[in-house]
Amino acid sequence: MSGENTSIHEFERNLICEYFSNMERQGPGSPNVTVKALSFVENLTAESKIADIGCGTGGQTMVLANNTPSQITGVDLFPTFIDIFNARCQKLNLQDKVTGVVGSMDNLHFRDEELDLIWSEGAIYNIGFERGINEWRKFLKTGAFIAVSEASWFTDERPAEIEDFWVNAYPEIDTIPQKVRQIQKAGYIPVATFVLPENCWTDRFYTPQRSVQENFLKKYAGNKAAEDFIEYQRYEAVLYSKYKHYYGYVFYIGKKI
Ligand code: SAM
Repeated sequence: MSGENTSIHEFERNLICEYFSNMERQGPGSPNVTVKALSFVENLTAESKIADIGCGTGGQTMVLANNTPSQITGVDLFPTFIDIFNARCQKLNLQDKVTGVVGSMDNLHFRDEELDLIWSEGAIYNIGFERGINEWRKFLKTGAFIAVSEASWFTDERPAEIEDFWVNAYPEIDTIPQKVRQIQKAGYIPVATFVLPENCWTDRFYTPQRSVQENFLKKYAGNKAAEDFIEYQRYEAVLYSKYKHYYGYVFYIGKKI
């Protein structure tokens, strides 16, 4: 029974991975936002080391590479994403500066105080925001930076439909002041926070999914797991357009004390 469950789970995981492999980014974001978040980070040189955790296929990593002189390691759980990531580095001639490795964010291979910057867009929720900022801190030098984007509430209260959806999807979703407090408590100076513009969700995330969804439904016609997955993605997009004044992604930049 558990073997059967594992293989069903594995099958669904592969479907999700295939779906998102067809996209430039696997979460809301944009090159402008990556560059803006980077503008709060000081002192990066050619000797500096950056880790991009939960890098996916590397959309934001390539932007980092084009805007810093530093060495970058992208880490992601899924080998398919890392294969695309490394092929992208080759194509852009960034292979001497950027490397993708398969690994899990709860068991990172970096040495203590090795890193000058930890980057993570739309991915820290996989370990949990508070756990991530606390556990990853040891890899940073004193005075080094962490920059993560995280789904956050804009208001103290919100309609039950959106509250229920997000609390089910990610129970640690919280307000911006609460996240900033967690950053300070974890031993960082909260340097900056800013809300990602709406186009990071619409033009850059949900709109490109439409054609991917059409192709996916054709390829997996009659496959319940694939159809349910697409339905869930579409529901998430509908909820965003209905409730976007209540939540969004927020970039948090902190400096290790
Ligand atoms: N940073 C990319 C972006 O913004 O386009 C990807 C964001 S996507 C929403 C979350 C990423 O976290 C996925 O690429 C997923 O494979 C990765 N991920 C999930 N669990 C992980 C883990 N335990 N360790 C490392 N990466 C993980």
